[in-house]
Amino acid sequence: MRAVIIGTGPAGITAAETLRREDPSGSVVALSTEPYAPYSPAAMADHFLTGRDDTLYWKGQNVAELRGIDERRESVVIGLDVDNREVVLHDDSRIPFEGLIIASGSKLNAPLEGADLPGIFDFKSLRMADELIGRVKRGEARSALIVGNGFIGVELSLLLADLGVDVTIIGRRPWIMPRVLDTLTAAVAQRGLIERGVKLHLGVEAEAFVGSPNVNSVRLNDGQLLEADLIVAATGVKPHIEFLHDSPIVTDWGIHVDDTLQTSETGIFASGDVAEARDWLTGERFVHAIFPNAVAQGEIAASNLLGANLKYDGAEAMNSLKHLGIPIVAMGTIDQPDDVLRWESGSALRSIYLRAGTIIGAQLAGDIRAAGVYRSLMLRRADVSCFGRGLVEPGFDIGNVIWDALAAS
Ligand SMILES: Cc1cc2nc3c(=O)[nH]c(=O)nc-3n(C[C@H](O)[C@H](O)[C@H](O)COP(=O)(O)OP(=O)(O)OC[C@H]3O[C@@H](n4cnc5c(N)ncnc54)[C@H](O)[C@@H]3O)c2cc1C
Repeated sequence: MRAVIIGTGPAGITAAETLRREDPSGSVVALSTEPYAPYSPAAMADHFLTGRDDTLYWKGQNVAELRGIDERRESVVIGLDVDNREVVLHDDSRIPFEGLIIASGSKLNAPLEGADLPGIFDFKSLRMADELIGRVKRGEARSALIVGNGFIGVELSLLLADLGVDVTIIGRRPWIMPRVLDTLTAAVAQRGLIERGVKLHLGVEAEAFVGSPNVNSVRLNDGQLLEADLIVAATGVKPHIEFLHDSPIVTDWGIHVDDTLQTSETGIFASGDVAEARDWLTGERFVHAIFPNAVAQGEIAASNLLGANLKYDGAEAMNSLKHLGIPIVAMGTIDQPDDVLRWESGSALRSIYLRAGTIIGAQLAGDIRAAGVYRSLMLRRADVSCFGRGLVEPGFDIGNVIWDALAAS
């Protein structure tokens, strides 16, 4: 098959490799907007901190050459001609396809006044991250304001603090990563951030980016104006779908896909942060923008483009803070539990969210060794009521005791 893939992020490059493996006589063109080899955004902080390239270019910088993928960088798709089965590029050239996978990922979503002014940084792409960290490393920036207290804002704050920047996070909700962490787990993370020198300005609303010719401050809704050398937007992400505006492909927040990850058009699939796939727990369409979902979806979309007809089990929610010094993992949901079990000792905290005897979410801080066990029980929808409070206590994760108990229950 002559296939085109929009994107060489974790979803796109996985799809490209899968196509080459499963259809060696076909051809694959893989497009990206940036000048870099396929990379993992999740490894950017580590890359800038350590200088390591191997996790950033997680497939190797020569993956395209090695696998026979026609990788084309700085090739921006601006439209899709579904009737003629062609992708339209920024220079008006066209690439014909028999099968298409859209893996264009997500971009910054900054619904704030002044968000389109020059001088605002983000940490969503390697190109932007390179510019931002370049300014710090050249000594041009000693202070930073990060607007947004979600995962990316927190990761970036730790990186900047380690690089000697005086960094403040501004967040609307009074605790960090409010969509992912409950207040108790967030409190553990916040203590860690403060110890690392990150300042938290939470429970305040950033209203506008301000400054001319370049943005140099943020106005809060109480009128305060906060200034810094670097102003960073980490206000959330949204799927990269603007090039689909004239196409018949059905979109909402992201691209609608069915259980095989096919879009509303036959032979056109979507995967990764751009796809609204089913949530494994609720069955509703949702974008869980994380690396493992992107990789799994890229593989399935490619196999299904070749006719495999595999069903995608559903996207899961899972986040871990890697650079805090205190390991923290959050998985599943904390919405509408009918019971919550907690165990705390020193800086270790476990919270298990239950509904109808099954785990719907888990948050672990300090000691995350049981994360794999909880995840496995959650994904199996196992009835864990037989464990009672023992479910959160230390030692729960030891060996086959769990599986024996489950088998007997
Ligand atoms: C700072 C940061 C830290 C993260 N940390 C973690 C983590 O610890 N764990 C985790 O699970 N997840 C993490 N994530 C999320 C994870 O990186 C994403 O879920 C994953 O990258 C999604 O992969 P993707 O291929 O769908 O999209 P992306 O990685 O966004 O790739 C999109 C690709 O599409 C291309 N593209 C976009 N538009 C066009 C166009 N018009 N024409 C041509 N090409 C186009 C882009 O150039 C790019 O190649 C992190 C993300 C960031 C930004």
